[in-house]
Amino acid sequence: MKVPNPVKVFIGRACQNILLTKDNLQKKGISLDPLCLFCKTEVETMKHILWDCPSIVDVWGACGRIIQKSYVAGYSFANVMVVLFDRCSGEDVEVYAEIARRIWFKRNSVVREGEFIHPNEVIRISARFINDYREALKKMGEGDFMEMTRVTQVFAR
Ligand SMILES: [Zn+2]
Repeated sequence: MKVPNPVKVFIGRACQNILLTKDNLQKKGISLDPLCLFCKTEVETMKHILWDCPSIVDVWGACGRIIQKSYVAGYSFANVMVVLFDRCSGEDVEVYAEIARRIWFKRNSVVREGEFIHPNEVIRISARFINDYREALKKMGEGDFMEMTRVTQVFAR
């Protein structure tokens, strides 16, 4: 993936399932409400919060052609990446990686600050991000990888 390191690191950790989702915390023996903060109906696993959660389904609709939400079997988030690499262009996977990271950060601010964020807000922000990202890519023309990396870094903040 041609994405800045923080995005690569995030996707790597998500695929290894080492981020502190509620499911992972529970497996470490911590007693908590395991339900997803967004939909409050299913256990918050890595794959759930970054792919399956019904509250974020609309994100993929907002992405237009980029990511068509599709069914991914199994419990592992790594499966999602395998399917995406199989069905989507490299560029689309890169955009998804950014969005996934953003969703995780949103989720963390809900946990840390007790801030309530309506799922639509996450969708709205993500959709805006994609549009800005596309605009930036359009403006810079094609094939300028260094420039793309720079723009991606700006959006990754
Ligand atoms: Zn959920």
